[in-house]
Amino acid sequence: MSTITQLIHSIPVDPQTGAIAVPIYQTSTFVQEAPGVNKGYDYARSNNPTREIAEKIIAGLEGGAGASAFSSGLAAIDAVVKLLQSGDEILAVDDIYGGAFRLFDKVYKKFGIHVNYIDTSDIETVFHAITPATKLIWLETPTNPTLKISDIAAIASIAKANNILLCVDNTFASPVLQQPIALGADLVVHSATKYLGGHSDLIAGVVISKTPELAQEIKFYQNACGAVLSPFDSFLLIRGIETLPLRIRQHNQNAQQIAAYLEQHPAVDKVYYPGLASHPGHELAKRQSKGFGGIISFTLKDDATAAATAFVTATKYFKLAESLGGIKSLLCHPAAMTHKSIPDEKRRAAGVSDSLIRLSVGLEDAEDLLADLEQAFAQQPVPAKVTAAV
Ligand SMILES: *Cc1c(COP(=O)(O)O)cnc(C)c1O
Repeated sequence: MSTITQLIHSIPVDPQTGAIAVPIYQTSTFVQEAPGVNKGYDYARSNNPTREIAEKIIAGLEGGAGASAFSSGLAAIDAVVKLLQSGDEILAVDDIYGGAFRLFDKVYKKFGIHVNYIDTSDIETVFHAITPATKLIWLETPTNPTLKISDIAAIASIAKANNILLCVDNTFASPVLQQPIALGADLVVHSATKYLGGHSDLIAGVVISKTPELAQEIKFYQNACGAVLSPFDSFLLIRGIETLPLRIRQHNQNAQQIAAYLEQHPAVDKVYYPGLASHPGHELAKRQSKGFGGIISFTLKDDATAAATAFVTATKYFKLAESLGGIKSLLCHPAAMTHKSIPDEKRRAAGVSDSLIRLSVGLEDAEDLLADLEQAFAQQPVPAKVTAAV
């Protein structure tokens, strides 16, 4: 059976009514025949049939023993951190998602959890950063917005040898392109707000665990802390996942064409896309994933905030917004948006230059997207330096 057929038929027909779509069980509680005697559900924070189906489908997609769905990607990340104790240390990829950084730095630091941010794309750096306190390695690959690639299998073997959990935030790749558990990871998290949902109409998160024991522990924190995904949002998530493989295929094809176009454009300085041979992580990305995804970043030769602002306000189909992974193309200017809270020097040192623009390539026709970018380049102001020389 192909993976698409398998995915579509992992979505069950309702046994009671034959409904082909998953019913939304919009209920808070479940009637019991006698105290403790029920049909597997007692209270909807602990378990809800709609959410349970979403969790099973996603566990299957990622090849995990179980999954828990949360009300946001950050709530999913939060549940993983709760596996740790005060005094434990996390080794995290240095250009981690900003919200994860804020959670670690502003919330968990005061509870005694220390985070060491390192360049995980360099395996030696990972090896040497491990201390007796290290209990969790946190990867994103590709990262945001410079799409750095880390070697999941190599880091998994270092983690295993040192009795450390490895968690991969697989939001950018999606399980269609990359399955961290098959590469040795213990835990996978998703902001299901992005590709899994895919339609920019919900906020959701998931943790997938390799073993039943870890799955049970995460389930405990899901119920104990309570940030569960609602029945309606679980339904939307299932509905989005039904087309995930088709959407990812189109995101990839469009992005590959656009990256090639940007790479030869005279106004563009650097293009960050793992599908380009020029990307330092290209060979590794080819080895550990089935495709390169729909996110591209690029910088302008005129590396000025003004040039980037002019560009991101000149596109028609690429809408200016944070977030990614939806059917409509989006673009953002990280220096002024997602990465604004990072001091300028630190941000530039991380490769996020003043003119860096991030595209989330959607499902429109590639020709239309290319034409949109072309007309935005044509509207670019003449760089200040050139004007002065004339
Ligand atoms: C968006 C995002 C998150 C956070 O998810 P929310 O659903 O917004 O809470 C975490 N990791 C990555 C890589 C993201 O892009």
